[in-house]
Amino acid sequence: MASSHTVLMRLVASAYSIAQKAGMIVRRVIAEGDLGIVEKTCATDLQTKADRLAQMSICSSLARKFPKLTIIGEEDLPSEDVDQELIEDGQWEEILKQPCPSQYSAIKEEDLVVWVDPLDGTKEYTEGLLDNVTVLIGIAYEGKAIAGVINQPYYNYQAGPDAVLGRTIWGVLGLGAFGFQLKEAPAGKHIVTTTRSHSNKLVTDCITAMNPDNVLRVGGAGNKIIQLIEGKASAYVFASPGCKKWDTCAPEVILHAVGGKLTDIHGNALRYNKEVKHMNSAGVLATLRNYDYYASRVPESVKNALVP
Ligand code: AMP
Ligand code: MG
Ligand code: MG
Repeated sequence: MASSHTVLMRLVASAYSIAQKAGMIVRRVIAEGDLGIVEKTCATDLQTKADRLAQMSICSSLARKFPKLTIIGEEDLPSEDVDQELIEDGQWEEILKQPCPSQYSAIKEEDLVVWVDPLDGTKEYTEGLLDNVTVLIGIAYEGKAIAGVINQPYYNYQAGPDAVLGRTIWGVLGLGAFGFQLKEAPAGKHIVTTTRSHSNKLVTDCITAMNPDNVLRVGGAGNKIIQLIEGKASAYVFASPGCKKWDTCAPEVILHAVGGKLTDIHGNALRYNKEVKHMNSAGVLATLRNYDYYASRVPESVKNALVP
């Protein structure tokens, strides 16, 4: 019998379970002790065994269930048969109980593009800053990010032995975002979160112009969006190329689903069609509230240096 659920909701429900499995892989690689670190373009652009295994797991699991999807993963991997042990076949039933927003109910599998960052915050992962790490699965339709899943494998890892380790946040535009408690950042303060491993003069010039009360330097695009929705930061500012579509797709959906805004540094919406270039060349500006303040402070010199 054909499923009564829409393609989009089935995909999100599967992506939830698949991101959980990827989070387990990320934890297992650390526990086994051999990170298998490879430099990609430079010493701050790394890939580990966890990035490789998690991507194989995510992309193969999605493709088995949804063979007509376009799936774009961060890592360049040789195409090889994937170990059955890496395949996740489950779906999160709670998601299937939710209604599909009507504007998405007729979407077909072949209309969707999935952007996969199997491990966001790799540099920090190799340095033991484990709660910076997330697994990101973003879903786009007609170039727009509409659904996403973020798994944080080491959520709670410093909270003691009784705390449940890891969590999964998910969201769909028009439905909402779930798996966390929405919290506002302190009123009247400008707390900027930005890169820890990929800074440069443009990044710091832009932040200085925002007149921040506090600057948080942490790893991961997923992690920084979580800081926005949990009230730890008021703006994510990254005035540099470097961040890619797989870094922003899922986090953008979670932020937009709760009323926030993510754009490039000029204020342009990001596009996620399969043909689009992967690099977010004009940086990232994201807030839960008060977007216009931060957008208005971006210096012209920074804008001129960052071509979309
Ligand atoms: P960060 O805030 O430094 O953790 O960056 C967010 C995401 O963008 C991570 O996936 C980084 O790997 C990526 N990224 C940002 N800048 C660069 C860069 N210069 N080279 C490679 N990746 C970058
Ligand atoms: Mg990333
Ligand atoms: Mg990554």
